[in-house]
Amino acid sequence: MIDYRRLRVALLGAGAVGSQVAALLLKHGDELADRAGAALELVGIAVRDPDAPRETDLPRELFTTDAESLIIGADIVIELMGGIEPAKTYLLQAINSGADVVTANKALLATHGPEIFDAADQVGAQVYYEAAAAGAIPIIRPLRDSLAGDRVRRIMGIVNGTTNYILDRMDTEGADFSDVVAEAQALGYAEADPTADVEGYDAAQKAAILASLAFHTTVPLHAVHREGITSIDKFAIDAARHAGYVIKLLAVCERLENETDASSTGASRNGASPLLDDRRAAAYGGEAISVRVYPALIHRDHPLASVHGANNAVFVEAEAAGNLMFYGAGAGGVQTASAVLGDIVSAARRHIAGGVGVGESTRANLPIVPIGRVTTRYQITLEVEDRPGVLATVAGILSEGRVSIATVEQTVIDHPDLGVPVARLVIGTHKAREQDLSDTVDRLAASGVVERVVSVLRVEGD
Ligand code: NAP
Repeated sequence: MIDYRRLRVALLGAGAVGSQVAALLLKHGDELADRAGAALELVGIAVRDPDAPRETDLPRELFTTDAESLIIGADIVIELMGGIEPAKTYLLQAINSGADVVTANKALLATHGPEIFDAADQVGAQVYYEAAAAGAIPIIRPLRDSLAGDRVRRIMGIVNGTTNYILDRMDTEGADFSDVVAEAQALGYAEADPTADVEGYDAAQKAAILASLAFHTTVPLHAVHREGITSIDKFAIDAARHAGYVIKLLAVCERLENETDASSTGASRNGASPLLDDRRAAAYGGEAISVRVYPALIHRDHPLASVHGANNAVFVEAEAAGNLMFYGAGAGGVQTASAVLGDIVSAARRHIAGGVGVGESTRANLPIVPIGRVTTRYQITLEVEDRPGVLATVAGILSEGRVSIATVEQTVIDHPDLGVPVARLVIGTHKAREQDLSDTVDRLAASGVVERVVSVLRVEGD
């Protein structure tokens, strides 16, 4: 047995993920020591209630409520408590006391990432967060390291398992939104309050993290456009299927060209020298980014369409590498623990090798465009009065609004409430600017020929 140097590992939190991390650290300690080149000694686990039952069998003497004492003297601190405070204070304490830190806390990184990364930079420590986006799926390291020499054009991610489970059940079994939510809660896929998932907040946090890495730009959470899936009903799912699509909640992070006058919502360029600004203009001239989360139609042939159940997938389009897809479990205690343990081994290796940590690369500092400037294709579903001339009126309003029609499908439907024959129009558009599209939809709604705007969905992935 090799006599490795001992590294003191402090764990904050022993819930779904933390209890699995502790169990695996204890179970595979020797093997992990061989990989890390250091013995990883779990010196304590901070929780709120040391006597609460745990998902794994862990020695009672490791538990404490005194997180601050545990952090002092630790070489590696693993934060798996979740939430903003006290997680943020503990992470900063750990960094300032010379530890490397591992966290899975997307909420914290999406809202206070720059402060935490700056603190780590100041002392040469490193922050590891592979589990903070898409759980067990390795996506942080591929973006941060493997693709560091490439230019990412676009990321489309299914990064929230709960919403994918809901939409998938609606698509494959014709299930109702509220029934599936209740079932997902019973199975433990959805929280008692599902708002963070179904309204897209969780996916938006992950989008901010992925876009920051992919585009070397600080992406604040407020710059991520967010829409949830609560308006998606059976009809929208059926209409999508009929047109050859499936609806997915997508996190889309996109590099846009020719956006010279894009107004930045990202970090400021204050302090950059004119020379640096010239070089930047040459490297990134006219480029900007868009980061958005919304339910979108994706063609059934696209690899993301075959992501079923609560699985996650991240589809990356890079200039040189082409298309890459990362797929697997986006959550789950033991699955997420795998990503955390990988980070612990990396942190241990760096600790042994010495030297300063690698900071976050945010120098591209690209402007982030508001949603109104984004260009996509759309599927607009309208209910209109079924009489001559209506289609021509609708086409005229779309054309005036700079929204060009690609396909139209008309079905006469039986609508007893209206007392007049009603036709349902499903209009596929060519690429249009979001602002033009939404102004045009408002004009259609007010036109007198449209009984109801049933849905307006973006089409992504082609
Ligand atoms: P969890 O089950 O709610 O566990 C939280 C743990 O933190 C509990 O052990 C709790 O102690 C402890 N804790 C909370 N507040 C504390 C405080 N003020 N002082 C001391 N201990 C405190 O959370 P989780 O699901 O494991 O998630 C942990 C992190 O991983 C979160 O950031 C989450 O977003 C992220 N994550 C989770 C998953 C997943 O599948 N669960 C996937 C990816 C990322 P008690 O047990 O005594 O209450």
